[in-house]
Amino acid sequence: MEQTITKTRPKNSGTKPLFENPILERLSRTHIAVPISIYLVTSTLFGWYAFAYTEMSALWITFLFFAGITVFTLVEYAVHRGVFHMETDTPTKAKIQYTFHGIHHEYPKDKTRLAMPPAAAVFVASALFGVLFLLLGEASYAFFPGFLVGYSGYLFVHFIVHAYAPPKNFFKWLWINHSVHHYKSHEKNYGVSSPLWDHIFGTYMK
Ligand SMILES: [Zn+2]
Ligand SMILES: [Zn+2]
Repeated sequence: MEQTITKTRPKNSGTKPLFENPILERLSRTHIAVPISIYLVTSTLFGWYAFAYTEMSALWITFLFFAGITVFTLVEYAVHRGVFHMETDTPTKAKIQYTFHGIHHEYPKDKTRLAMPPAAAVFVASALFGVLFLLLGEASYAFFPGFLVGYSGYLFVHFIVHAYAPPKNFFKWLWINHSVHHYKSHEKNYGVSSPLWDHIFGTYMK
């Protein structure tokens, strides 16, 4: 199995354009505070709607919210392992892998490429809510904000790992955990916000 990301050594600084089209190139970048703010505001609005306009009890809303966070951590693991690190046995797959994630492994310190750009994220998030609403009905009003808070947590941890030296606080172990993925083995530690699923699926590395 050959992966694009293993062909190029990670660079300590710098960046590289992904697209020739300047509008697409601009849209492929974002400051981390933009998506995090959008998701937290959206989550608050959904949570408010769940309490104010549905018949769900506070306990049930709370349960659904935490279920949303937990499911997010599993999705984070599965997407990182299955999509971002998919086998690149065809040129098309290699191109997709590089655009979505290979470039992050090549330029891990490029702070404008640490989150899905808002233009794409709004589209993906709307589609996700549509699917959740079809599956869960009004429960989606409490589950979806949990999912978004989980995603925001992931973005925050990922930003800290790549923007700062190892912090001397709670985040240190997560900092080390994700650095192992970048600098020791791309096939270990797919979880960024927590190593939970790496322990369960046997991809954890100390
Ligand atoms: Zn990373
Ligand atoms: Zn990765």
